[in-house]
Amino acid sequence: MAPPSGDNNVVVSTNLKLERLLSMKGGKDEASYANNSQAQAKHARSMLHLLKETLDGVELNLPETPFVVADLGCSSGNNTIFIINVIIEHITKRYEASGHSGVPEFSAFFADLPSNDFNTLFQLLPPLANQGAGSMEECLASTAHRSFFAAGVPGSFYRRLFPARSVDVFYSAFSLHWLSQVPDIVLEKTSMAYNRGKIFIHGANKIAASAYRKQFQTDLAGFLQMRSKEMKKGGSIFIALLGRTSEDPTDQGGAGLLFGTHFQDAWDDLVQEGLITSEKRDDFNIPVYAPSLQDFKEVVEANGSFRIKKLEVFQGGSPLVVNEPDDAVEVGRALANSCRSVSGVLVDAHIGDKLGDELFLRVANRATHKAEEILEKLQFFHIVASLSLK
Ligand code: SAH
Repeated sequence: MAPPSGDNNVVVSTNLKLERLLSMKGGKDEASYANNSQAQAKHARSMLHLLKETLDGVELNLPETPFVVADLGCSSGNNTIFIINVIIEHITKRYEASGHSGVPEFSAFFADLPSNDFNTLFQLLPPLANQGAGSMEECLASTAHRSFFAAGVPGSFYRRLFPARSVDVFYSAFSLHWLSQVPDIVLEKTSMAYNRGKIFIHGANKIAASAYRKQFQTDLAGFLQMRSKEMKKGGSIFIALLGRTSEDPTDQGGAGLLFGTHFQDAWDDLVQEGLITSEKRDDFNIPVYAPSLQDFKEVVEANGSFRIKKLEVFQGGSPLVVNEPDDAVEVGRALANSCRSVSGVLVDAHIGDKLGDELFLRVANRATHKAEEILEKLQFFHIVASLSLK
């Protein structure tokens, strides 16, 4: 068969390919992650009390050793910098209140897959404060400077990223719902799990959805195993990821509405208009899985290295950034931008950026006609977990 239209024929299938390819949309333009992640910022802020509870449980070492924080799945934009600052300020206050002889130096690691736009992120970092020139408190109070040494870490958080026993606090927000790969059987045409007609598991066949569930659990098990080696004794992990309230994995909640309705229909439009073959559509699958609390808990318990200090489903709110909720066109565009900022890189790799433009135009048009319903129904729930080493 002649290759379907599109410049590139990457099938997002194997582990390594996805690892090399996946990133949120870099830069700062309209559909970039940096420009479409205010909702994530808001959701993260509404969970700060939970993060601080986690930080209160971290063991403070002697101030002579650097205190090490790592953000796993940091992406590019201000969210990660904001959170690292919150963590460091909180730990600093704890040191000051604890009667230690001083406050340690801080090291912050920004970790994400190698295609992440680390350049944009690094350019957003303020210069390092001249610590000789003022007190640590002055450094922390000044937003024009940072009070930590910064480094980028390229690699998958499903593998080792850090030396053993080297990290005090791991933070990971809105990242662990990204699978390491689309399960192979979901892409095999002869398999019962083949996801025919669909680009996500929302409303898909149960066998495809349970293959995703298994992949999620395998991935999370790997993640926990790696972190249990890398974390210092007395350290903690704070995790927030997309979750769902239904037990049924074919009901993916907010993620289902984002990827399984207008986005799905827009793919079908491209097929119906003859712009891509149905096979090309069927080869595309969003490698995201929003777990239930139970899906998540089973893995932590089976791993056995961590004490669960907190595990709950948290209502995050809408993922859309909309200034004029009455403006249906703006709502439509916000949905398309939000979808494109997280899946655009995969879409463009699969069908090329010209067809990617066509696809997201259709997402925006379709969403414009359902603006009211989208504003009412599109809600994200997050699983929030606070774990410490046993
Ligand atoms: N934590 C940020 C960004 C969330 S976007 C915030 O709160 O706004 C999700 C990020 O997870 C993306 O940058 C994506 O590249 C990253 N990611 C997905 N899978 C990953 C993996 N296996 N290893 C490391 N990072 C991953």
